[in-house]
Amino acid sequence: MSNQPSDVLIVGGGMVGLCIAHQLLERGVTTSITVLDKEPSLGRHSSGRNSGVLHAGLYYKPGTLKAQVCVAGARRLRAWVEQRGLPLNPCGKVIVPPRADLDPQLDVLAERGRANGATVELWDARQIQELIPEARTASGRALWSPNTAVVKPIKVVEHLQGELQQQGVRFVQGQLGWSIKPQQQQLKLSDGSTLSYGHLFNCAGLQADRVAHQFGVGRNYSLLPFKGLYWQLKPDCPIQPRTNLYPVPDLAVPFLGVHFTPSADTTPVVSIGPTATPAWGRENYRGLEALEPAMAAANLAVLARQYLANRGGFRRYVHEQAFLDLPPLLLRAAQQLIPSVRAEHLELSQKVGIRSQLFNHTTQRLEDDFLCLPGPASTHVLNAISPAFTASFALADLILDQAVLA
Ligand SMILES: Cc1cc2nc3c(=O)[nH]c(=O)nc-3n(C[C@H](O)[C@H](O)[C@H](O)COP(=O)(O)OP(=O)(O)OC[C@H]3O[C@@H](n4cnc5c(N)ncnc54)[C@H](O)[C@@H]3O)c2cc1C
Repeated sequence: MSNQPSDVLIVGGGMVGLCIAHQLLERGVTTSITVLDKEPSLGRHSSGRNSGVLHAGLYYKPGTLKAQVCVAGARRLRAWVEQRGLPLNPCGKVIVPPRADLDPQLDVLAERGRANGATVELWDARQIQELIPEARTASGRALWSPNTAVVKPIKVVEHLQGELQQQGVRFVQGQLGWSIKPQQQQLKLSDGSTLSYGHLFNCAGLQADRVAHQFGVGRNYSLLPFKGLYWQLKPDCPIQPRTNLYPVPDLAVPFLGVHFTPSADTTPVVSIGPTATPAWGRENYRGLEALEPAMAAANLAVLARQYLANRGGFRRYVHEQAFLDLPPLLLRAAQQLIPSVRAEHLELSQKVGIRSQLFNHTTQRLEDDFLCLPGPASTHVLNAISPAFTASFALADLILDQAVLA
């Protein structure tokens, strides 16, 4: 049985894992890096299935980790994408209040954006109409974020993997049934061969809590999966917004609300979504695949308790977002932004992702910020939620700054 040693072993080749490998090379820490992924190709989970929006950093409370890394991360990823000529739609973003009582939130977002270093402008109805004539704002005001852009996430993942391979990073893929001996710093693959390491980064996305538990880390946390479905405007729909159009989010609720996003294709496809409905499995993208009934039942019990206690505005999430996978409700949410959208303009998109949220069983609350925990010769990235894709290069630096490498 062979042993393949490396200084650093990264479990999970999504954007977070890949960017950690990239920054280890960039900082000259080591070139002895292995990335292990359970899938035969990368980008099969969140990093290849997201909206591709490079967020400008408006939503996050100054002082949070999200706020610290989003603006710089977006700049770095955008420059990286542009330098390589990968698809990018520099279309900006308009945020409108669907109800007049949400108007003051525009000022909160503008303040947060400026504090985080983002460029934002408050717009009046005339300015909005010039860019998206069909859009509606309940208060006559909107927020304009010129630096929001859209990329094709799977292209980014594939290209980054290719560059890392050229620089000598080793990829071990299609490996699901591995086991770990944390004290021996050794991971055993299903064929009996081993990967020994100096330090392990757990970047397993939707499975990161389960991997951490094997190290005795983060046992009071588990991930709750929410399914994100997308619809899209048919090519012959007369309304084709040229920019992102988002509702003012309820900042107490974890999800941003369904929005219009033009893709980074030469002829952009405008998607509407993603929804956020409790999922029946962490990787239950379609039909009955990867169902986890026991986990789903346990999660529904957690969500029911959140609903009853109304922690973190949870009741509003349930009333406004939990059932948006039902087409009439999705259409109604879309019409709050563009009233002239009709059912016949929409078709279901092939795109679907699972959005995880980390639940803290001690505090009985959802964690809102990135969370990174140390373990024996290891670091565990437990809550790489949005905007982790946008922020990935800067987030990787933050993780490396905190990690104690042997
Ligand atoms: C629907 C949706 C829309 C989103 N929109 C945006 C957006 O517009 N902008 C933005 O910035 N963010 C967005 N996000 C969030 C963003 O996609 C994630 O924050 C980011 O991709 C997380 O990257 P990751 O590397 O942590 O996880 P992943 O990309 O999920 O990668 C984890 C990897 O670990 C592997 N893995 C899992 N378990 C194991 C195991 N046991 N052994 C080995 N390998 C394992 C998986 O195969 C996978 O390749 C969105 C997410 C979703 C789901």
